[in-house]
Amino acid sequence: MYGFEDRLREESFEVTRIDVPAVSPKAKEFRALCEKNECREYGTNWGCPPGVGTLEECAETLRTYHEAFLVAKRYVLDPKNVKEMKRARDNLGDSSRRAADMIRPFAAVKVLGDGGCRYCGVCTYPGGACRYPLQRMDSISGYGIDMEDLFKKAGKKFAFEDCAVTLCSIVLVGKARK
Ligand code: SF4
Repeated sequence: MYGFEDRLREESFEVTRIDVPAVSPKAKEFRALCEKNECREYGTNWGCPPGVGTLEECAETLRTYHEAFLVAKRYVLDPKNVKEMKRARDNLGDSSRRAADMIRPFAAVKVLGDGGCRYCGVCTYPGGACRYPLQRMDSISGYGIDMEDLFKKAGKKFAFEDCAVTLCSIVLVGKARK
């Protein structure tokens, strides 16, 4: 579809078609975890709570899409190494955004990712509007989506490892334009 799946697979990503995810019944727990701010991204960008909107607004956004694809790659690295983790996250973000760019001429598209939007060096949040709304990536957990459940439904194992990390994004696609 639009060539993006082949392109991602050429870049060593697994691409799995999934049902469009919904906000989980556990979403308030996920938001409480966001508020603990262990990732230090809470309240720093438009892709994380509270900038990403309420859970009701996130649910409404999800309902506007008709197809979804889970994009995942296992990176062999030390998860405690900040530089290596940044490189892996940038790789996932860049490839997911390129996939969205391939879809956009034909259908609405949105990418959700691991953590908040890191497209700009410093986000305009909260003082100004997003500079690049088409490139904005919102947080999967900020949307209240249960990743463990989503992995299970996609037939994948969700595991934490000492020497590797599996990062993923969700590419949401709207109805094809006529
Ligand atoms: S694209 Fe830039 S301004 Fe917009 S949410 Fe992402 S980091 Fe912030």
